[in-house]
Amino acid sequence: MAEEPSSSGRLFLITGPSGVGKGTLVTALLERHPEIWLSISATTRSPRSGEVEGTSYFFLNRADFDAKVSQGGLLEWAEFAGNCYGTPREPVEAQLQAGRPVLLEIELEGARQVRRSFPSGFQIFIKPPSFEELERRIRGRGTDSEEAIVRRLERARVELQAESEFDAVIVNGDLTVALQQLEQLMGLG
Ligand code: 5GP
Repeated sequence: MAEEPSSSGRLFLITGPSGVGKGTLVTALLERHPEIWLSISATTRSPRSGEVEGTSYFFLNRADFDAKVSQGGLLEWAEFAGNCYGTPREPVEAQLQAGRPVLLEIELEGARQVRRSFPSGFQIFIKPPSFEELERRIRGRGTDSEEAIVRRLERARVELQAESEFDAVIVNGDLTVALQQLEQLMGLG
C-alpha cells in the first residue's frame, strides 16, 4: 500500500460506468486546465482504433502487466470486462510531490483501493441520466463486441449502486453543465 505523500499536490479521482462520458469530460477539463496531470493507465486490453500507446494507455501483454503488479509498480489495479487495468505508481507519486493536481480516471475496484492508500483524495462519481441512456451511449460508440457490451452493462449495474461511497456525484446529462460542476468540485472556479 502506498504512503500518502505529505505534499501539496491533491489527488482527484473520477469513476463511473463505462459509456457515461468520463473520457469526454476529462478531455474537456484538461483543455481548460492544463495544470492538471492525468495519470495514463496500463492495460491488457487491445488498442481501439485511434488509441495511441503512452497517450491513451500503456498497452501491455498479460505477462508484463503481472510483472508490474508483482514489482509493486501499480498504485492499484483491477480486472474489468475481461482485461486488467492499473495505475503506474511512480509518476503519480512524483507529480504529487511536485505539488501538481493529479487526476485518475478509473473503475470502482481501483477507486476503493486508492481510497485506502490516499484517504484525503477527492473521489467523484459520474452517473448517466438513466440506465437506458447509458446503454444507448455504449452501443452508439460502436467500438466493442456484443459480448464486451453485455459485460460492460452488467458491470455498470454494479457500479451504479456504489455512488454513495463517493465524495460527490455528477449526473452527466449535459457536458457543459457536468464540466462546470466538476470544476467547482475541484476548486477550479
Ligand atoms: P476502457 O476499456 O473503456 O478504456 O476502460 C474500461 C474501464 O477501466 C473504465 O471504467 C476505466 O475508467 C477503467 N480504467 C482505466 N484505467 C484504469 C486503471 O488504471 N485502473 C482501474 N482500476 N481502472 C481503470
